Amino acid sequence: MNDKHPFDDFGINLFSESVMKERLPYPVYTKWKTAIRKEDALDRNTADAIAHAMKIWAMEKGATHYSHWFQPMSGNTAEKHDAFVEPGDYQAISRFSGKSLIKGEGDASSFPSGGLRATFEARGYTYWDCTSPAFVRDNILCIPTIFVSYNGETLDKKAPLLKSLEALNKEATRIVNAFKDKDIKRVTAMVGLEQEYFLIDKNLYQQRSDLINTGRTLFGNVPPIGQDLAEHYFGSIPNRVKAFMKEVNVELWKLGIYAKTEHNEAAPCQFEIAPLFADANIAVDQNQLIMDVLKKVADLHDLACIFHEKPFKGVNGSGKHNNWSLVTDDGQNLLEPGDKPHENIRFLLFVCAVIKAVDTYPELLRMASSDINNDLRLGANEAPPAIISICMGQELEQILFQLEKSLKIEHNVETTPFSISNLSYVPKDTSDRNRTSPFAFTGNKFEFRMVGSSLSAATTNIVLNTIVADSLSEFANELEPLKYIQDVRDKALEICQRVIREHKRILFSGDGYSKEWIKEAEERGLPNIPAYIYSIESLISDKAIGLFERNKVLSEVELKARADILYEQYYKKVLIESNTLMAMTKKTLLPALIKEIKFYSDAYASLNIKNAFYETKINTLLEILDNVQKRYDELNNLLTAVSKSATNREKGYYAFETIVSARHSLRKAVDRIESEISKENFPVPSYEEMFISI
Ligand code: ADP
Ligand code: MG
Repeated sequence: MNDKHPFDDFGINLFSESVMKERLPYPVYTKWKTAIRKEDALDRNTADAIAHAMKIWAMEKGATHYSHWFQPMSGNTAEKHDAFVEPGDYQAISRFSGKSLIKGEGDASSFPSGGLRATFEARGYTYWDCTSPAFVRDNILCIPTIFVSYNGETLDKKAPLLKSLEALNKEATRIVNAFKDKDIKRVTAMVGLEQEYFLIDKNLYQQRSDLINTGRTLFGNVPPIGQDLAEHYFGSIPNRVKAFMKEVNVELWKLGIYAKTEHNEAAPCQFEIAPLFADANIAVDQNQLIMDVLKKVADLHDLACIFHEKPFKGVNGSGKHNNWSLVTDDGQNLLEPGDKPHENIRFLLFVCAVIKAVDTYPELLRMASSDINNDLRLGANEAPPAIISICMGQELEQILFQLEKSLKIEHNVETTPFSISNLSYVPKDTSDRNRTSPFAFTGNKFEFRMVGSSLSAATTNIVLNTIVADSLSEFANELEPLKYIQDVRDKALEICQRVIREHKRILFSGDGYSKEWIKEAEERGLPNIPAYIYSIESLISDKAIGLFERNKVLSEVELKARADILYEQYYKKVLIESNTLMAMTKKTLLPALIKEIKFYSDAYASLNIKNAFYETKINTLLEILDNVQKRYDELNNLLTAVSKSATNREKGYYAFETIVSARHSLRKAVDRIESEISKENFPVPSYEEMFISI
């Protein structure tokens, strides 16, 4: 009998609030509390005391080093380890000062900065994010930090996320308090991220340099079954994967992450993990950690974990669903409809803030949730379409449309079933809920389903928080001057009516995958941005610069740098994919094809009679050879023609307009090798082998 409870170790590797409470002198603990509430700055003595307690705690867990853990613009996490060791009297002593806790400095010139940091001022600084708890992994104490340039411009995804949360907090608090029920101090965005991923056998993974270099297969034919039978979805989890998930959960629980849901997904070898929701910045940190733990534990189980949005052509790709709500410091979910009329007016006002925000800035949401990988997924018949719309569900949609016509419905509570006096009957998260909508209201939160599985969720939440803060700010300006609560409620309904009149085109509860919707969306004037690269521009439009500057989230200079980085990443990814496919073609696939040609030619020659089968076969193989060579040369020429002096934007567009389609043609040619040659001569694991490998 194992008498250890499975959750005994929950949070043991997290320097959590309760650890701080226990280990810090009480005045130090309260100073930290006021600092995270942004009521006061952290002074040097307090930081020293926290650092010391943190070091002792971490060393008890086996830590020898500390690291500022940050999220540069590459979208991954970065760390640089420093040992606690310092020289004492002819011996090594351990030391960790408040200064080292709060601020780190390093030559960080190899992180993308979009020109914000020239190499002569290559220093980047990391600053402790005291709102996100430190944790120990292996022998490292990891301290969540933000990352800024010498001049103070943000170089990471975390600082703007924190700023967007501040903007949202400020404006949402204004609205709640304008209703004069009771004073609240803070509103926090809560986020729950569902993460999809693939698992395949590590040994097969290592035989495919496309998977290793680019995270996806650059060629390969879908096996006859694929996911047609839908037998994998929610099916029983294979034993090997079960053992893997068990270890993942244990690791995550130790880090204080409430890993909760796990199941098979639609495609073969595809799975999902979802932790419980948390404060947005912590949820984003935890998602990065979850991805890292999944990868490392997979490796221990001889599995490879793949986060690419579309690792295999012909079967579903992976996403990351961003569940988002707003919660006050006294625990009210502002997106929760209830049974009190006045609370429901407030609820509708918050919903309308989201409607206005999403309809005003759909391009930004499209950009934030995508990258080049997501182009292979969005708009196909599996993921949300690239057109942003909001599904409120039929009941709520009808209420909104009633409100559009008449403000009287509130006084009509007895007679109309769609009164806002009691919305608690609105079904929460029903099973028939619309899974084809990119942005769906699911009872007490919005679920944004477009986000790519490999992306940091930070950008999406930066945009979401900022655009909603902006709507709320406008509403608050109208409500705050009103003295009487009844006037506030009347005004709020009037604002809702205005929002619905102006923005109802964004509401759509039908089938987002249908052809008719694409047409209808166009008639409604909703943008349909077919490729990610077109959406990057939205980040530096006057509209976006105004938005982000007004809400003090990102400056024009920072936005321009970010757009530049996105173009550069786009171009580099296309380059890496093309070079990898070409190398595999040249070194692996063509030699295999030649071997096959020789096999048939030798066999035919030894027959000494004419035979149509052999002739057709050899001709087909020769024709494939010829075609592959041509496509290879075309791609190669396009790659060498890239102008060195072109800007990142120009290179990005060049890649999109020419290289991507040439690479696609090479893939088509190469895929024929696999369909024509014998299994024995095909030198890399096929889709079928990978799909049945676990
Ligand atoms: P589904 O697969 O049906 O979309 P899951 O249960 O897998 O739903 O995931 C739902 C996610 O939403 C979880 O991470 C959950 O913690 C999160 N969530 C639930 N309630 C809220 C809320 N009020 N705010 C933010 N996230 C939430
Ligand atoms: Mg979901």
